[in-house]
Amino acid sequence: MLLVTILISLLYSTLMTGRIFNPSSTSLAPARQPTVVAHEGAGLRDQLQRPLRDLRISVTDRCNFRCTYCMPREVFGADHAFLPQPQLLSFEEIVRVATIAVQMGVQKIRLTGGEPLLRKHIENLIELLSQLRTPDGQPVELAMTTNATLLAQKAQALKDAGLHRVTVSLDALDSARFTQLSDSQVAVERVLAGIEKAAEVGLAPVKVNMVVRKGINDDQIIPMARYFKGRGHALRFIEYMDVGNTNGWNMAEVITGAQIVEQLAHEFEIEPVAADYYGEVADRYRYVDGSGEFGIITSVSNPFCGDCTRMRLSPEGQFFLCLFASRGYDVRSLLRSQATDNEIAAHLMEVWRGRGDRYSELRGQNQAPREKIEMSYIGG
Ligand code: SAM
Ligand code: SF4
Ligand code: SF4
Repeated sequence: MLLVTILISLLYSTLMTGRIFNPSSTSLAPARQPTVVAHEGAGLRDQLQRPLRDLRISVTDRCNFRCTYCMPREVFGADHAFLPQPQLLSFEEIVRVATIAVQMGVQKIRLTGGEPLLRKHIENLIELLSQLRTPDGQPVELAMTTNATLLAQKAQALKDAGLHRVTVSLDALDSARFTQLSDSQVAVERVLAGIEKAAEVGLAPVKVNMVVRKGINDDQIIPMARYFKGRGHALRFIEYMDVGNTNGWNMAEVITGAQIVEQLAHEFEIEPVAADYYGEVADRYRYVDGSGEFGIITSVSNPFCGDCTRMRLSPEGQFFLCLFASRGYDVRSLLRSQATDNEIAAHLMEVWRGRGDRYSELRGQNQAPREKIEMSYIGG
């Protein structure tokens, strides 16, 4: 009798609030039909007339690597205080925000971190997100950025859950260099196996991101290009950025996209490829012999803020409007109060409408130094 009463009251509360009951962050529940009026989000634009199209969700601030430019061990050592579990958004909370964001225009969701594969039962979150539909009924594109140490073992489950693509970060092929850059005991072969497994199960095309730093790993540009050429994966070279506060970034360590292309043109016959879609961040090139493509991401030398349609959600529920932002906009307190979906949508719209961020375009123009969000917390 007690059980029946509980079930009836839960059903009643679900109907009244439009919220699903999900007793733990890992249990599965079907994604709700959104209660938010879609047309309100359709014309949503920020101060620079940019629509909201992408949501990057950081699911953890923890990582099993200590890449020297992202989580230097001196700062992220054994005594570093990571976010305690109760502060993280649950899967239900993440799905609720994502559902609303999709009604506001989001068409692509990327899971990131920290290392997203460290978040327990991440495939359950993917399964929930894969049920989201845009206002015109299209599935949402679902991707993940990962260091791939756990990818070989998890790729099939991720694919089965509904993930479409993965981007793998890999900064060197040479084993000793890889160990040094990731400051881990993981063998580079494990990452390469993860990439192959992802492609094999259909998480393709796999993108491989290499952050290039002068004097640190620029000698790996040609070996990386040679290795990935003809394998069907899209290698992208990324300019080293001044994200966060801990990596001691210096412009002298940046190799520009133009310099990278110059090196590659010396070695291979290549030609540029036209952009595929609005907001594409990589300048693409193809090998003339038909053995594939590579991309260059010129975040420093030729920034693309004008096309930046990305909003970020931090592990403990703050919206960030830029990779270089100093502050976020809390949404967790709304999620954990009695706020309705429409109230959360109104908050999201207000935050996006106020957005004027274009840090990379202003870089070097006497911007006052300030604290920035860490990349390992908000993700790439
Ligand atoms: N742990 C996952 C990984 O490494 O793929 C996801 C999070 S990681 C913060 C996301 C991306 O940010 C990685 O591709 C990494 O190389 C990139 N990244 C971190 N610090 C960077 C920096 N200073 N400049 C450019 N890219 C950076
Ligand atoms: Fe970890 Fe990714 Fe940062 Fe490397 S770049 S320390 S793998 S979060
Ligand atoms: Fe977007 Fe900020 Fe990067 Fe510009 S600097 S592209 S606004 S994240």
